[in-house]
Amino acid sequence: MRNGALPRELDLRGLAAREASISGVATLATLERLVSAGVGLLEPASAAFAFRRDEEGRYVVEAHVKAEVVLECQRCLGEMTQLLETRTVMACVWNDDDAAALPPSYEPLIVQETANLSDIVEEELLLAIPASPMHAGDCVTEAQRAALGVGAERIESEGRKESPFAVLAKLKS
Ligand SMILES: [Zn+2]
Repeated sequence: MRNGALPRELDLRGLAAREASISGVATLATLERLVSAGVGLLEPASAAFAFRRDEEGRYVVEAHVKAEVVLECQRCLGEMTQLLETRTVMACVWNDDDAAALPPSYEPLIVQETANLSDIVEEELLLAIPASPMHAGDCVTEAQRAALGVGAERIESEGRKESPFAVLAKLKS
């Protein structure tokens, strides 16, 4: 995938007619809905798009999106990173009625004359983010921490640099 910023205001149907492909990156500056959802990025999201028409004359957009996102763990409330990768085949439609008429192999992409590829990237990532993200390994909730007798101040000062087990080990010693 290339590293340039994704172009804006593109005529997706025109690109499909020309069987174009576009790849590039999207930074948080162009992904405002991710920011509002409290999602961060370790580095700009990368995306590759391939455009084509199918036998029925539909304008098809194949999107491959990859990003390492920073989320809040729902168990310990600390930061966690997760690699998200999506591959979606979409067909351009003008409205909901057209969307409902699409065969199930296509995701509807409601677009008017032009669209921003970063909006598609954003939508893909928002759909891929787990509803309740949690660290894959062990981490502890506030309540568990309290039960261990670790004061809130201590978490504040040492919190994210140290694993809960390191804290536990100290308590035991
Ligand atoms: Zn956690």
